[in-house]
Amino acid sequence: MEHPENDDLYRGLKVNKGVADVPTVNPYLKRPQRKAYTPSEFVEGILKGNITILSQAVTLVESAKYEHQQLAQEIIEKCLPFAGKSVRIGITGVPGAGKSTSIDAFGMHLIKEGRKLAVLAIDPSSERSKGSILGDKTRMEALSREKDAFIRPSPSAGSLGGVARKTRETIVLCEAAGFDTVFVETVGVGQSETAVHSMVDFFLLIQLAGTGDELQGIKRGIMEMADGIIINKADGDNIDKANLAAAQFRNALHLFPPADSGWFPKVLTYSGYYNIGIKEIWDMVGEYMEFTKKNGYFNYKRNEQAKYWMYESINDTLRETFYHNPAVEGMLIPTEQQVLNNEISSFVAAKRMMDLFLENLSKK
Ligand code: GDP
Repeated sequence: MEHPENDDLYRGLKVNKGVADVPTVNPYLKRPQRKAYTPSEFVEGILKGNITILSQAVTLVESAKYEHQQLAQEIIEKCLPFAGKSVRIGITGVPGAGKSTSIDAFGMHLIKEGRKLAVLAIDPSSERSKGSILGDKTRMEALSREKDAFIRPSPSAGSLGGVARKTRETIVLCEAAGFDTVFVETVGVGQSETAVHSMVDFFLLIQLAGTGDELQGIKRGIMEMADGIIINKADGDNIDKANLAAAQFRNALHLFPPADSGWFPKVLTYSGYYNIGIKEIWDMVGEYMEFTKKNGYFNYKRNEQAKYWMYESINDTLRETFYHNPAVEGMLIPTEQQVLNNEISSFVAAKRMMDLFLENLSKK
């Protein structure tokens, strides 16, 4: 049949005959269609604890696409009133310290207590390694089979700041979905600890004994952040060494200035692999929560963290806007070259770029 728009009424417009569809290669193949949810549907699903919808929302949070970010922000905002009620615990330790084994053991302990646990990760190196190793489900075998555990690898794209922000936003979604305990794991090599510290209530440092120089190689800053130091692999022949290391850590902690929380960090030994001393660790976390809720530090810290993330977001947005400004983008490399050629100083160069940016902004 002739296309109606080829009628004389629509002169100047000609609709050509279409091309027949290519026959289906495999008539039985059905592509799974991901349902496009509205923000309200997302929120409704999350509040009901629907894990598929929660995962999809987290994917939006992690996406670099503008429209995904818009949608993610809308979902987060709607989830915020239902968030904030979990115990947030940061867990750090060098590779091999036993983080995955321990998280598996802690997690199973908590699930048996009737809690719901989300395990998230911050791994700034994942961009290099193409896909994160942290939070990988295969690393937490028992936990990954539990319906009350939600394990999510580190968001892989972007700077540490960006990755950390996404993890922080994911915490909100998990809490709204009913997870009452959140672990944020990081590999303890010194960069991401500050970021984790800025989003958790309790910071747990996993250490090993047995090398004789336990206190060496630990960044002082990380030890100062710790609310609990736990010495893993206190099993078999290693028990004495673990106890000795614990005594050394306790002594070392006395040399640090007292923490703002008023809490004196505890040092415990345990075995993640053999499930020894796990209850004591969780009891310590509980004691800390009670202590800091009583003295007001818990709320104070959460407020400080909220403030910190507000400024982090402003800084992120400013940086993004600056570097993606077309005028700036065009002049950045030539200006950099002028600095390298000693034609202008770094400060003059920076001022020129800022002036260019501000001029360009006001013209909009
Ligand atoms: P991660 O890199 O920090 O996540 O460390 P893993 O959990 O992968 O553990 C590193 C190695 O230490 C593995 O071979 C574990 O089996 C072993 N391991 C972990 N926890 C314990 C423990 O409590 N006792 C002993 N003996 N070995 C452990």
